[in-house]
Amino acid sequence: MSDKKKKAAEHSPEASDDRRLERQNMVKYQLAAEGIYDQAVLKSMGKVPRHRFVLEEMQSLAYEAVPLPITNGQTISQPIVVAMMTQALELKKEDKVLEIGTGSGYAAAVLSLIVQKVYSVERFAELAKTAQVRFRELHYDNIEVKVADGTLGWPEKAPFDAIVVTAAAPKVPESLLAQLAPGGRLIIPVGTRWSQELILVRRGQEGGFTSETLEPVRFVPLVGAEGWSEE
Ligand code: SAH
Repeated sequence: MSDKKKKAAEHSPEASDDRRLERQNMVKYQLAAEGIYDQAVLKSMGKVPRHRFVLEEMQSLAYEAVPLPITNGQTISQPIVVAMMTQALELKKEDKVLEIGTGSGYAAAVLSLIVQKVYSVERFAELAKTAQVRFRELHYDNIEVKVADGTLGWPEKAPFDAIVVTAAAPKVPESLLAQLAPGGRLIIPVGTRWSQELILVRRGQEGGFTSETLEPVRFVPLVGAEGWSEE
């Protein structure tokens, strides 16, 4: 490969595809075989280089069915959880999505290949920064990140067709419900600090809300004005 080509390959989203086989196996055995049927989700997760979103020393575990530690004492969910939450949002190409809890940036990257625009809020500046560097390197140009308390949403960019909260809340934050468009979907883990259930909220065309309970899950706490206190 010429130097120029090599350089271009390093900067493409499918870069360092020594891990392509691992990723295909993840999609096949952990996702498709376990109830993920949304082709857009399977396709996106088949493309996003998950190993680029984890700590260097964890790269060999990036495609295993496990949650992984990132910095600031946070964790990135196992692949099936990301897939389930994304699938539950019933996303359309033209959707505008809000994510609370950028973390590594992995879930935002998965969303960015499915919808038109992703807004993501993270409370730790360091995590937001690292994720933004990854987005730039991998050319995920339709993701905007801000450092703030995501329990309050991102009012300036509302309403959203879908909202995904990737940290555990004591209840569904009112601010997020208010920023959901008519016909919009919101998914959020709700429960105690240690164990939760995924709640899917839908907003009707008339503005009313209905909700259903999906899987039991375990997420790091959502810390903020409409979440948990610092400790
Ligand atoms: N979606 C992430 C997983 C993040 S873990 C990924 O794919 O890697 C949960 C994240 O939520 C952590 O980074 C944590 O710092 C963040 N978080 C917790 N409370 C928050 C709040 N109130 N606002 C924004 N981010 C918050």
